[in-house]
Amino acid sequence: MNQRVIPLADERQLGRLPSIPAELPAPSGRLVDSRGRAMKDLRISVTDRCNFRCVYCMPKAVFDTDYAFLPRAALLSFEEITRLARLFAAHGVSKIRLTGGEPLLRRKLEDLVAQLAAIPGIEITLTTNGVLLPRKAAALAAAGLQRVTVSLDSLDDATFRAMNDMDVPVAEVLAGIDAAAAAGLGPIKINMVVKRGMNEHEIVPLARHFRGSGHILRFIEFMDVGCSNGWRMDDVVPSAEVLRRIHAVFPLEAVDPNYRGEVAERWRYLDGGGEIGVISSVTQAFCHACTRARLSTEGRLYTCLFAHSGHDLRTLMREGCSDAELSAVIGGIWNGRGDRYSEIRSAETAALRKIEMSYIGG
Ligand code: SAM
Repeated sequence: MNQRVIPLADERQLGRLPSIPAELPAPSGRLVDSRGRAMKDLRISVTDRCNFRCVYCMPKAVFDTDYAFLPRAALLSFEEITRLARLFAAHGVSKIRLTGGEPLLRRKLEDLVAQLAAIPGIEITLTTNGVLLPRKAAALAAAGLQRVTVSLDSLDDATFRAMNDMDVPVAEVLAGIDAAAAAGLGPIKINMVVKRGMNEHEIVPLARHFRGSGHILRFIEFMDVGCSNGWRMDDVVPSAEVLRRIHAVFPLEAVDPNYRGEVAERWRYLDGGGEIGVISSVTQAFCHACTRARLSTEGRLYTCLFAHSGHDLRTLMREGCSDAELSAVIGGIWNGRGDRYSEIRSAETAALRKIEMSYIGG
């Protein structure tokens, strides 16, 4: 038993059962929240387990052998996930991202992808640490997965092994990226979380490595998700600094967003070496344009990555709610959404109890 005690808020059980409205309006496909934001993206966490113990996400001191991961019966089945996804699609969701935990640890994930791919008008993507892609990429692509995002925080083996804290070498992730490219799951995005004093020396080497590859490297500011990663503002490397460092070696120019509300700010190399992105969730909050809903592994709907409680759709489903009832519940929750955590972040809010990213899905 690990003796180090870190207070970890277990917010998984919080939240009353959502009430079913008396009126059951049919979805219009144009749902908006209290700030006028549409619901376009649904992130679905398919497992709370991971084969990495990234120090900024699932530190071993908390997620050790004694940690109570969800029992199998608590997880939404593929049929339950697909049922909900159809309802979200009717409300306007056009993109689904499968995540976790490590989504490729969920057995037969390709079967879920095939079920989701049968929903008209939905793009299906996946975020992964990449290690299982050599085994899974072809089957996932055949099932209908369109793109993958692979997380990679360093090319330096010692730094990477220390960050994933499971001694996984960089080569395994690079092999995963190659497998995804060979399976046609591109353009591939590579996510690097930059943490001060940990991997900032890897910003330029990663940029150099992926220039000209066709893959899009994105730098993410270290965020205060959950309660277990010991976040401090001093550990955040602002995107402006990331861009300055790269620009000094490989000159950059800004690129227009692909669409309104795009999370990553786009830049391209002046010499034609391709594109990079920065995700400035801390220094330039983008709550005003956030169109993402999140479905946790056990079927709770969260309307913000920094929420402390979710809305239990699984119980409603398992108690026999109709599609019309579930749809009205989802619509009502989104209508009432007012979250804008990143815009009001401070040292005080960072200490608030929040759901862990491995549970809600990254
Ligand atoms: N296991 C998958 C993976 O590694 O991509 C999916 C889940 S992971 C929680 C999703 C993304 O969240 C990863 O790119 C990870 O680096 C990022 N992430 C986790 N904790 C973070 C934090 N505190 N700040 C910023 N990004 C974080």
